[in-house]
Order: sequence, then C-alpha cells, then structure tokens
Amino acid sequence: HLTIFRDDLLIFTYVGFFLTYLYTISGFLIGWAAGFGVTGGAHRLWTHRSYKAKLPLRIILIICYSMAGQNKLYEWVRDHRVHHKFSETDADPHNANRGFFFSHVGWLMMRKHPDVLRKGKQIDCTDLFDDPVVVFFERHFGPMKLFFAFIFPTLFPYYFWNETFYWSFMGSIARYVCSLNCTWLVNSAAHMFGNKPYDR
Ligand SMILES: [Zn+2]
Ligand SMILES: [Zn+2]
Repeated sequence: HLTIFRDDLLIFTYVGFFLTYLYTISGFLIGWAAGFGVTGGAHRLWTHRSYKAKLPLRIILIICYSMAGQNKLYEWVRDHRVHHKFSETDADPHNANRGFFFSHVGWLMMRKHPDVLRKGKQIDCTDLFDDPVVVFFERHFGPMKLFFAFIFPTLFPYYFWNETFYWSFMGSIARYVCSLNCTWLVNSAAHMFGNKPYDR
C-alpha cells in the first residue's frame, strides 16, 4: 500500500523553497531536481517501492539523485530501511532520541552504533541490484556525483546566463549546503515536532 510521508512533503516544500531557491534560478532548478531525486527516487521508489517506474524515469531519477550529492544509493536505502524498522532505537542510524544535532548531521560524522551495523546487515537490499540503472550508478558513483552535484550545477549558470565562474561555483556550493540541510531536517526537525504516525 502507499503511505503518504508527511515528512518530506512539508520540509521540501516550505524550508526548501525559502533557503535554496531564494538564491538563484539555477539553484532553484537544481535544488528542485535534487529534492525530486531524493524523495521520488531514493525514498519512494528504491527504498519503499511505493510505485513502479519505467527505464526513462529511473534514469531521470538517478541523475536527480546524483545532483543531491549524497551517499551511495545502497547505503541510503539500507540506512533508511533500518531507520523505518527500528525508529528511535539504537539501531536507527539517525536516532532522534540522541538529540537534534546527532539526527541532523552528527550521525554522518561518527562511527555507527553497533546495533545499526548488526540490524543493518539483516536488512535485505539485494533487490536494488536487479535494477541496471542502480548497478550503473553504484559502479560509477564517484564521477557521477562529481559531475552532477558539482560540475554541472557550476557550468549551468555560467553557460546559460553568463554568470561569472566564481559566483557560479559559490552558488552551486550554497545550493549543495541547502539541499543537504533540507534532507537532514527530515531526520532532525520532522522527528522532533508533531505526531509520529510511523509505518513500520
Ligand atoms: Zn521512508
Ligand atoms: Zn523518519
């Protein structure tokens, strides 16, 4: 069945609009695409299998996901499946009970709790590799991330409306920082406030 995840809808719509998109039009476009790749691709499609997507859409989704400049997809999906299954326990990679900072970004800066590793290994993510688009992405992760998260967003305003290279680059970094924080707010703020109708 399909569950509406209030989380990403709220955060990406309001906060995302404000922070990222105020900056430049390219920040708007690329920030929107990255958000689409994370919520529509990594989250709904590859983690939860909420819908089926044909090849062209999966290619668009993986490119958009690359623009977000996050982890390998396998890690993203495993971390998120284990997060759903063991929300707010030690096995939750970004356990919100460990505070705002930890669930926002701290969890990415330190070693994982032993329970996360143990339970994470029990989560089956082999279905990911049935998708050739995912196999391709995982194999070329480094270059894909470098190109779609940094080089392309820098060249876009530089090429299309003659922005200076310096500001194109700075804008793309600002966009990256905002995109990451919008994603992280789902794990921190969205877990801190409001009711908790989790789907396990
Ligand atoms: Zn989810
Ligand atoms: Zn959550």
